Amino acid sequence: MTISPEQPGVPDNALTPSPAAIPGLEELRRDIDAVDEQIVALLARRHLTVQRVVALKTAHRLPVYHPSREEDLISQRRDQAVRAGLDPDHIEELYRSIVRHSRVRQTVQVSRVPVRPGARVLLVGAGGKMGRYFAEWFTTTGYEVRQLERGDWPQVGRLCHGIDAALVSVPIDLTVPVIAQLGPHLPPECVLADITSVKAAPLDAMLAAHAGPVVGLHPLFGPATHTMDKQLVVASPGRAPEACQWLLDQFVAWGNIVVPVDARQHDHLMTFVQALRHFATFAFGDFLCRQQINLPATLELSSPIYRLEMGMIGRLFGQDPELYAEIIFATPERRALLRDFVLSLQQHCELLETADKEAFTERFRRVTEWFGPFCGQAMRESSYLIEKLVERF
Ligand code: NAD
Repeated sequence: MTISPEQPGVPDNALTPSPAAIPGLEELRRDIDAVDEQIVALLARRHLTVQRVVALKTAHRLPVYHPSREEDLISQRRDQAVRAGLDPDHIEELYRSIVRHSRVRQTVQVSRVPVRPGARVLLVGAGGKMGRYFAEWFTTTGYEVRQLERGDWPQVGRLCHGIDAALVSVPIDLTVPVIAQLGPHLPPECVLADITSVKAAPLDAMLAAHAGPVVGLHPLFGPATHTMDKQLVVASPGRAPEACQWLLDQFVAWGNIVVPVDARQHDHLMTFVQALRHFATFAFGDFLCRQQINLPATLELSSPIYRLEMGMIGRLFGQDPELYAEIIFATPERRALLRDFVLSLQQHCELLETADKEAFTERFRRVTEWFGPFCGQAMRESSYLIEKLVERF
């Protein structure tokens, strides 16, 4: 069976005349080919212009990602699509793909340029997952990277000599004592930073251990992330922000979006963003396991939503349990909130026992009201994901 290229999925079969016999068809096909050629030629021209932009950005040390410029560009193309009688959603999707691809290429080009050439960076916990990740990024960007692991403390004085920044990347429960041990060896002007997933206690420890510049960081991504393009890094201010700025600028140059957030506020928000999210996913997966459900059979009959949900659950259980245990059990505040969560589930048992539809509907409506306009946004975003999932699998 042959498929018409201008309309995939429509077969030319024996009962229809051969394409060559249809007057004008060949000419129209040549037209489509010519337009496609022009599109590719224009994309190549766009790419060359982008490279010139990159050269200018690099010369002026500007970040690669310019969110408002990208959003303006998308809105303008959407408006143009409407005027041209095209589907604006389709044009947006096309442009997001073009822009993202171009941004990733730009990031690769400019990101490995040091914001502070010649600086020396000490990674504490350099042999761990995140330590190895950042050692690779700092090294390939041209920094002198020194590594301090568990057994290297006898050499701490030599390792800290003349360093411009120390980045602490050890397990959460060891962060505070390790910072206290490191502090006395740091040069006074050295930036002391950490990448711990909780911020308040490490930041307090850094301020107490070191009189120089201090900043707390939390990369909201893991070591499997190949590009830092558009990845978030939380920066909790400690001391002497102007002296810490080059380190933050380096993260921006790598493509990250650096979000300044007070350490305590960060910890409170992360209780929901990470701890509750992961704990609820753990509890869901654990329940399915206890029920010994026939996973392949449920997936065969699955709605895209179930598939998406299972994707998130499977993703969690495909990773390191210790990392999640650290995040979930990190602080007494987190553990208290998770206990409240479990208790709130027990309250729902009453609904099940009474099968009280009215009470359920009433509760449902109250939650909808509380979520407000986010429900609309959530519908749009999740529909997009579901469509992508259906397209791909
Ligand atoms: P990891 O367990 O893989 O690495 C920790 C490293 O610290 C190990 O190599 C260990 O030997 C070393 N270490 C332990 N005690 C030490 C000591 N006294 N002196 C020097 N080194 C010591 O952990 P990880 O996943 O790389 O996480 C490190 C930090 O990064 C944690 O604070 C975590 O919260 C944070 N973080 C992790 C992720 C992630 O996805 N893994 C994401 C964001 C932030």
